Amino acid sequence: MRRLLSHPNATSKPSGHKCFLCKRDVAFTSEGDVFQPVAVLPCGHTFHDQCLQNITPDDQAKDPPCIPCALGEN
Ligand SMILES: [Zn+2]
Ligand SMILES: [Zn+2]
Repeated sequence: MRRLLSHPNATSKPSGHKCFLCKRDVAFTSEGDVFQPVAVLPCGHTFHDQCLQNITPDDQAKDPPCIPCALGEN
């Protein structure tokens, strides 16, 4: 049985978008359900701003590469 990983009407996922780096809903963090900035790349992938910064080299900060796209995890 296949699981739907992103369902727009899922009531338990307030934002419906997962951070592709830590796999948590972007509405939540390891800190709990505190709000934090969300980064959305041009391709549509969403990340916690903090997660994206953690894996982005300083010289690419203005144009961060998309990890899921690079890995083909679309
Ligand atoms: Zn994250
Ligand atoms: Zn992407």
